[in-house]
Amino acid sequence: MIDLKFYSPVEMINYHKFENKGCHVHIKRDDLIHPFISGNKWRKLKYTLRHAKNENRMHLVTFGGAWSNHLLATAAASAKFGFSSTAYIRGEKVSNASLDLCELFGMQLVFTDRNTYKDKELIFKKHHKEDPNTYFIDEGGASVHALEGCAEIIDELTDEYDHIFCASGTGTTLVGLNKGIKRNNKKTKLHGVPVLAGGNFLYEEMKRLDRDCQDVLLHTEYHFGGYAKTKSSLIDFIKDFVSSTGILIEPVYTGKMMFCVMDLIEKGYFKPGTKILVLHTGGIMGIMGKLDLFKKQ
Ligand SMILES: *Cc1c(COP(=O)(O)O)cnc(C)c1O
Repeated sequence: MIDLKFYSPVEMINYHKFENKGCHVHIKRDDLIHPFISGNKWRKLKYTLRHAKNENRMHLVTFGGAWSNHLLATAAASAKFGFSSTAYIRGEKVSNASLDLCELFGMQLVFTDRNTYKDKELIFKKHHKEDPNTYFIDEGGASVHALEGCAEIIDELTDEYDHIFCASGTGTTLVGLNKGIKRNNKKTKLHGVPVLAGGNFLYEEMKRLDRDCQDVLLHTEYHFGGYAKTKSSLIDFIKDFVSSTGILIEPVYTGKMMFCVMDLIEKGYFKPGTKILVLHTGGIMGIMGKLDLFKKQ
C-alpha cells in the first residue's frame, strides 16, 4: 500500500503582526510530513502513485525546474515505494543540492533545452510511449488523482475556520482544498495566493479541473515580480516571521502566501476575532538556493 505515516498538526502562530489586529492565525504543518516528500507534493503524489501501481507502471517520468519541490518529492517517493524515476529538467545542465538529492534517491536526470521542454507530452511520446511500464506525471504533480490527496487536508481538520489560505502555482492544491471544503460542508472561505505574475489565469485553470471552484478567491498582487522572483520587502518579512515564530517559510511559495495574510490583516481586511488557517505547503528545500538573499540585507 502506498501510504506514509505522517505528522501534520495545526498550530497557533504567535506573531506580533497578526495579534495586533486581533486575528487568530493557525497553520497546518504539512511541511512536517516528510523532509523531502514534503507538503502538498505528497498530497498530490499519494493517489497518483497508487494509480500507477494499480496499472503496474513502475517507472515514473516527470518534469520540473532545477529547484523543483515536485522532483525531489517524486525521487524520494519513488525510492520509498519501489518505483524507478526519470526527470526531464528545464534548461541547461546545472548542479545543486536538490538535484544531487534527486540523484541520490536514484532518479535519472535529463536536462532539456527550454524549447523542447515546452511540449512534455511530446517528450514522453518520443522516449517512453512504447514502454508499458512508464507512467507520465505532469510538472508539479498536477492531475485528477492529485485532487483527492489535497481534499484530505480538509478532512483532517477538527476545528472551523473563517478563512483558509494557500500558496498557488498550478492551482491543483486549491482545487483539491475546495473539493474538501464542499464535501465537508464547511463555511470556510478559500483564498489562493498565486506566486506567478498574472495569476488571474488560475481562475480558468481551476475551472478546467473542477467547475465547482467559483467561490475560490485569488489574491494576485503578491507575486513579487513573478515565479521565484523576490523583493527586499518579502525577504525582510520572512526574516522577521521566521525569527519571531520558529516556523521556516521560503520566498518562492509560503513566504508570499504569508506576506499576503500579514498584509491583509494590517490593512484591516478581517474583523477582529477572525479565525484564519494557513497551509504550510512545505518546499523548504527551495530556500537552500536562496540563502544569499538573506545575508546581503
Ligand atoms: C508546488 C508548491 C505549491 C503550489 O502548488 P499547486 O498545486 O501547483 O498550486 C505551493 N507551495 C509549495 C511549497 C510548493 O512546493
